[in-house]
Amino acid sequence: MPTVFITGANRGLGLEFARQFAVDGWRVLATCRAPERAADLARLAARQSEITVHGLDVADHRAIDALAHRLSDVSVDLLLSNAGISGDSGDSGDRGLGHLDYGEWTRTFQINTMAAARLAESFGDHLARSERRLMVALTSLMGSMGDNSSGGSYLYRSSKAALNAVMKSLSIDLRPRGIGVLILHPGWVRTDMGGPDGLITPQQSVAGMRAIIDRYTPADSGRFLNYDGSALPW
Ligand code: NAP
Repeated sequence: MPTVFITGANRGLGLEFARQFAVDGWRVLATCRAPERAADLARLAARQSEITVHGLDVADHRAIDALAHRLSDVSVDLLLSNAGISGDSGDSGDRGLGHLDYGEWTRTFQINTMAAARLAESFGDHLARSERRLMVALTSLMGSMGDNSSGGSYLYRSSKAALNAVMKSLSIDLRPRGIGVLILHPGWVRTDMGGPDGLITPQQSVAGMRAIIDRYTPADSGRFLNYDGSALPW
């Protein structure tokens, strides 16, 4: 039974990943920062015995290390770095140029960018001893230079562009250990972050990304792909 480790598994795409992988027979290590408030995840875990819930705030490096240590005898086939925040692009309002919130920018980088690097550092051994050895980050097309024709969203765009750079380097540096890397854009999805106008459901987005993960070969490592499998511009 393969094992998937998911961050931000209490709602949105993370919760849907947990649901689909559990239904498919995977063992699911579902992490979230406040398990006591994760009612939907708790209900899912009560139905699906493959799911175990673990507390993890991805901005807390010591907590990442401690969880890696607690799970030191576990092999992780797929490490899904999903947790993210919208920074200046979400409901908190795009304050825009002239009003940039540099404290919030730091926090956005901690969660959207640095957490993926820290997870790779802390869980490298767990991945290396698994069968599939794959790390996936949920990025955004908003991190693409080639696609940016509307400006704005400085915090979110820069954090996802930097995440792409981190994942690209990981794909090269982890290759000797047989660990692959995928950088996936989930589409514009109807979640709390994507809002009600999103073009697709979490079910559609996650099914698409799981199909990419299923057919992954080492030649794909380091690619930046849309949820439908098409290549995206950096
Ligand atoms: P969402 O519904 O807003 O869910 C975000 C998840 O991240 C929540 O589980 C949240 O947990 C978690 N999270 C935030 N900060 C965290 C922290 N410090 N530690 C642990 N967990 C934390 O967003 P989503 O739509 O599912 O997005 C998932 C990923 O896809 C994100 O990386 C996002 O940037 C990316 N994405 C989404 C879209 C879209 O249209 N939805 C488009 C492009 C990219 P709490 O409940 O504790 O806050």
